[in-house]
Amino acid sequence: MVCTNNSFLRKAEILSIGSELTSGAQLDTNSQWLSRKLAEIGVATGWHSTIPDDVEANLNGFILAASRAGLVVITGGLGPTQDDLTRETLARLVGVELVFDEASWVAIQDLFHRRHRICPERNRVQAYFPKGSEIIPNANGTAPGVFLIHQGTIFVALPGPPREMEQMWTNEVRPRLLNANLGKLGFGDGFLSRRTIRTFGAGESAVEEKLLDLTRRGADPEVGITASNAIINLSITARGADQADVQAKIALVEEIIRDRLGDLVFGANEDTLAEAVGLLLEELNLTVSLVESVTCGHTASLLGAVPGISKWFAGSLVLYRPEAKDNLLGYPKDLLQREECVGPETARFLAKAVREKMGTDLGVAVVGYAGPGDGGPGRPAGLVFAAVDDGSSVTSEHTQNWHGSRSEIQHRTALMTLNLLRLKLLAIKADQISCQNMPSKEVP
Ligand code: AMP
Ligand code: MG
Repeated sequence: MVCTNNSFLRKAEILSIGSELTSGAQLDTNSQWLSRKLAEIGVATGWHSTIPDDVEANLNGFILAASRAGLVVITGGLGPTQDDLTRETLARLVGVELVFDEASWVAIQDLFHRRHRICPERNRVQAYFPKGSEIIPNANGTAPGVFLIHQGTIFVALPGPPREMEQMWTNEVRPRLLNANLGKLGFGDGFLSRRTIRTFGAGESAVEEKLLDLTRRGADPEVGITASNAIINLSITARGADQADVQAKIALVEEIIRDRLGDLVFGANEDTLAEAVGLLLEELNLTVSLVESVTCGHTASLLGAVPGISKWFAGSLVLYRPEAKDNLLGYPKDLLQREECVGPETARFLAKAVREKMGTDLGVAVVGYAGPGDGGPGRPAGLVFAAVDDGSSVTSEHTQNWHGSRSEIQHRTALMTLNLLRLKLLAIKADQISCQNMPSKEVP
C-alpha cells in the first residue's frame, strides 16, 4: 500500500525569498507551482514560508526549515545584487565558505555575450557556491542553482524568475530527486497525480449531488470541488506505485464524471471555454460573429486568447446606445420600446442581425445590466440575456441573474455566452453525427 498521507513521512518546505513578496508588491506563484510538482513525485509540502531580503530573517528561516523539513526548496535571492542572500545564507547554515566556480562564470559571461551585452563584474558573485554543494545549471538565465544535503535535509536553491525556476526544476532537480530514491529517504514511495475536470452551467452543490460517492472524504482517488467565476472544477487526485497506475485510476474516475455530467464538462486542466468553442468551430468548419453590450467586448477578448481565431471568428460589435444598434443592425423602434435594449427578444434579434451583417454561420448576442445600478423595476443588476442564431428557426437563448461586482457579472456573462455557443455547437455536431448514421433510403 502507498501511504503518502502518513504523518510520519517527511515533508518539504518551500522558502520564497524576496522583499517584493513579503511587501505584497508581487505574488508568490513559485510556491504553488512547486507544491504541485512535489506532489507529482509523491512528496507532501508541509510549509510555505516567505522571507524578506534580510540577513537575519534568511538565516532564521533556513534554520527553522532545516529543523522540520526533509527537503527545503528555496526560490529567489540568487541574483547579482547585494540583497540576494541565498548563497551566503546556505554557506552560513552549513558552516562552509563560498568557493568560486570558473565554469559557471564562463557560462554567465557567455549568456551576456549571446545577448550582445557586456557582462558586469558584479555578476561574478553568481559563480560562488557553498563548498561541497552541487551546481544546478540554468539554461535560461545567469543564476545557477545549488543542491546540497545538510544533516540529512536536502536543500535546493533556485532563482526566483518562474521561467528559469520551472525549467531547472523539470530538467535538473526532479530527476535528481527521483534518483535519490525518495521512498528510502522517508518521503513515501508513491506517485501522485492530479487532473482537473472543468464544468460550466450548474452550481457547485448541483454538480456535487451527482458525484456524492466520489467526493466523500477518504475516497481513492480523491475528488475535490472548487468554484471560480461560475466554473466548477473537479480535481481528481490519485496515488499509486507508478505513473501508469496513477493515470489508470484517474482515467476511470474521469470517465464516470464525464458520463454523469454530460455536456456540463467543457475541458480538463487549463482548458478554457473559449478554447472549447474554438475547437468545435474548427472541427465543424463554421464561423461566428458577436454583438455585445453588457460585456463590452470581453467575450471577444476571451476568444482572442485562442490561437488561430481568424479561421472561425469574423468579429464582434460592441454596441451600447440604441442609435448604434439601429444604425448598424437596424434595431427596431417597437422592440426598443418594449425591451429598452435589454431582453430576450433583443438578444435574439441582434444575434440574427449580426450573423446576417457579418455573413457568418452563427451569430451571438449578449445584453444585460452589469450594475451596480439596475435598469428599473424588475430589471436588476446582473440580469443578462444571450442568444445564438444559426440561421434555422430555433434560437438558443439563456437568461441569467448574476450577483456580484460589475466585473464579476461581466466576466461570468461572457463565460455564459461562450457556453451557450458551445452547447449550440455540440447540438449541431450531434445532428451531423445522427444524419451520418441514418440508414440509407436508397432502393436496392
Ligand atoms: P531573485 O532570484 O530573487 O532575483 O528574483 C527575481 C525575480 O523573480 C523577482 O523580482 C520576481 O519577479 C520573481 N520572483 C521571485 N520569487 C518569486 C516567487 N516566489 N513567485 C513568483 N515570482 C518570483
Ligand atoms: Mg530577490
